[in-house]
Amino acid sequence: MTNQLSLAQGREYLAIPGPSVMPDAVLQAMHRPSPNIYDGALIEMMPALTRDLCRVARTDHNVAIYISNGHGTWEAALSNVIAPGETVLAPASGRFTHGWAEMAEGLGAKAELIDFGASSAWDLDRIAETLHADTAHEIKAVLAVHVDTSTSIRNDIPALRALLDDLNHPALLMADCIASMGCDRFEMDAWGVDIAVTACQKGLMTPAGTGFVFFNDKAQAKRAAMPRVSRYWDWEPRANPELFYQYFNGTAPTHHLYGLRAALDLIHAEGIETVWTRHQRLAQAIWAACEVWAQGGAFHLNVTDPAYRSHAVTALRLTEGRGTPLRNYTENQLGLTLGIGLGMEDWDGCFRLGHMGHVNAQMIMALLGSVETAMAALDIPRGSGALEAAAATLAA
Ligand SMILES: *Cc1c(COP(=O)(O)O)cnc(C)c1O
Repeated sequence: MTNQLSLAQGREYLAIPGPSVMPDAVLQAMHRPSPNIYDGALIEMMPALTRDLCRVARTDHNVAIYISNGHGTWEAALSNVIAPGETVLAPASGRFTHGWAEMAEGLGAKAELIDFGASSAWDLDRIAETLHADTAHEIKAVLAVHVDTSTSIRNDIPALRALLDDLNHPALLMADCIASMGCDRFEMDAWGVDIAVTACQKGLMTPAGTGFVFFNDKAQAKRAAMPRVSRYWDWEPRANPELFYQYFNGTAPTHHLYGLRAALDLIHAEGIETVWTRHQRLAQAIWAACEVWAQGGAFHLNVTDPAYRSHAVTALRLTEGRGTPLRNYTENQLGLTLGIGLGMEDWDGCFRLGHMGHVNAQMIMALLGSVETAMAALDIPRGSGALEAAAATLAA
């Protein structure tokens, strides 16, 4: 008996929008026996680790670390500043804002959702109308998803800040940077963001399991006025621990901390500005290829205006439900796993490319070449010259 031939044998490539590709340096840093959690190197590395995390978020304020995924940081952030019965505003350009708003409701808050659909960034005029009408300032926070990973829309956080300032609205600006941190430019302090949440498995290149909540003094003042805060989610001891175990409210995520240390070293050695530019250049090559494929009529970039496209993830649409067969082909025949069409009504027609974190130009060319191969195998109509267009963009 002969085995079925598959060209997927070899090193696999997970190009989904999180978890992302893990650098060998991160894996190697985690490959060690459990450390002493009462004394020594692990405890000593914490001040520099939190400082270097804050540098990635571009903040001089505070960070609380949680043993959680991104969903956990949503709940952590809300638990510290939103009391039951209070209102949050959620301008949605994709599934993730809905998820955060639902979590607020689960905590007894009222969530006011403005839904901009699956292909449009925020319409700031509509958000302004809602905030303007809120003369009693019942809205205590705006839940702003910077990059919605389901649609790959990147929203304009500084413009939202300017809007809140123009209207003199005191709501906290809370940003979900889970997909964008370490990929797209994000500057917490300069942009006037009060709370930013992220997780470690996307631009921060570490296996899923730790999440971060950054907060400034305005957020801390709201925290101080809360009738009560869940002991576990409380950010105060985590951000200002007197004893090591208070960082995590229990046992530290020991190996994650070593992995994260290695990931932060990579980011700071490259320089965060350079990291952002690399992601931008790689994204532009992807868009160049996609625009050529789109000439065939069966293939579309979900976000039309490049100004609102993420540099970390690209959502794509294929006619006739051909996204799922394409993903199956790249995975089974080529060794490349692509992202599912999350939160889209036409699930099978959509797929996503993850290009966040530890990715370089040769990986992007392989990604695009594999999508081209799958479209050829599946006879999907497309413009020709996509790879040449990507190469020309990278070479420019
Ligand atoms: C991945 C992601 C989340 C959810 O994070 P989990 O770690 O899967 O809980 C939330 N928001 C955005 C924008 C994301 O990209």
